[in-house]
Amino acid sequence: MALIVQKYGGTSVGSIDRIKNVARRVAHFHKQGHQLVVVVSAMSGETNRLLALAKELSANPSPRELDVVAATGEQVTIGLLAIALHELGIGARSYTGGQVRVLTDNAHTKARILTIDETPMRRDLARGTVVIVAGFQGVDAEGNITTLGRGGSDTSGVALAAALKADECQIYTDVDGVYTTDPRIVPEARRLSSVTFEEMLEMASLGSKVLQIRSVEFAGKYKVKLRVLSSLDEPESTAPGTLITFEEDDTMEQAIISGIAFNRDEAKISVMGVPDKPGIAAAILGPVADANVDVDMIVQNIGSSEHTDFSFTVHRNEYQRALDLLAEQRKKGLAAREIIGDSRICKVSVIGIGMRSHVGIASKMFKTLADEGINIQMISTSEIKISVVIDEKYLELAVRVLHRAFELDKESA
Ligand code: ADP
Ligand code: ASP
Ligand code: MG
Repeated sequence: MALIVQKYGGTSVGSIDRIKNVARRVAHFHKQGHQLVVVVSAMSGETNRLLALAKELSANPSPRELDVVAATGEQVTIGLLAIALHELGIGARSYTGGQVRVLTDNAHTKARILTIDETPMRRDLARGTVVIVAGFQGVDAEGNITTLGRGGSDTSGVALAAALKADECQIYTDVDGVYTTDPRIVPEARRLSSVTFEEMLEMASLGSKVLQIRSVEFAGKYKVKLRVLSSLDEPESTAPGTLITFEEDDTMEQAIISGIAFNRDEAKISVMGVPDKPGIAAAILGPVADANVDVDMIVQNIGSSEHTDFSFTVHRNEYQRALDLLAEQRKKGLAAREIIGDSRICKVSVIGIGMRSHVGIASKMFKTLADEGINIQMISTSEIKISVVIDEKYLELAVRVLHRAFELDKESA
């Protein structure tokens, strides 16, 4: 008998039939004698719908009230799933994030989990009752409803698994595992039977939305056994999905590159013709950081004379704000010839721990893109990834040609 946390995403609970299917799978595990905590998302499209309602009323709604509205989506699905399980003769109780006391900080719309009170869940589990918890939501110390950022139910699932020291956390979604890249963009993408924690962390942070980045961070910190599986299979299916592993062992697929991630959510800002002298990067990025705008990639050109160009990327939602901040700095004396913005860019990254021991990956990546006439605007690297910023219109082409060039469509030896 094991304690298993199962998380079901929006598509997996997107209709009454799908909810019945989830209930059948939960019942199947329950009948095998396992203790089950089930975390659910809102029905697919529902969170977007709720947020759009708020935006109809205000261009700038209060984050606290946005959380009140957005959290209702998950409240519906926990109740429906409990009812579906009762119909199958299985004891189940639903809980909101506040009821389980998923305590978070008060950063509305992107709150972080601080602690989880596992006592009420343990009581139910000991009686054989299935515990159903609303994903994506928590409560701050003052009792305000908070949400964990888009895709946050993954994090709820893994955090609950960590708090309960569950034997396994299963993330059920609309694909049957983690693929070499998004199978919606590259149909030849291949399911990985396992992926290392480090690679998964890079993939999630570089745009693969199959797992929210914070859920992977939690899994790493608390060594949660994490698996990504399909909810669309038959409830009795024994398909293995993808296991996130913490050790690189010999039996693992030893590809040099294990995946390609992409992100369309960034925008680029270039500050042209600034004096090439100490302190200029701080003068440009300081005010941006002070305004809590996250900066991702940064490039400073080697100045040919006393001047240089400085470029960086930010999230598209914060693009206009960053431009406004820099315009203000210019008025206050930042000497720049011109400030140029481009929101039609994307970032494409190749990821793999095998890169550590192989040279020539970057040049292969750059040549593959050059052969297609794709211009690279920015580059950043780490030990296990190379990212480039390119024109958004080349995104799909770039991902497809890189997938082929690194032979990700082929079974590795
Ligand atoms: P859920 O609602 O279950 O949380 P998401 O839509 O958040 O599901 O995540 C699943 C989706 O992630 C898939 O449908 C797929 O299009 C996308 N995706 C992006 N990159 C990958 C990848 N490398 N492997 C698998 N799926 C990916
Ligand atoms: N329902 C939330 C969202 O759409 C959380 C989640 O699905 O993980 O972002
Ligand atoms: Mg998701």
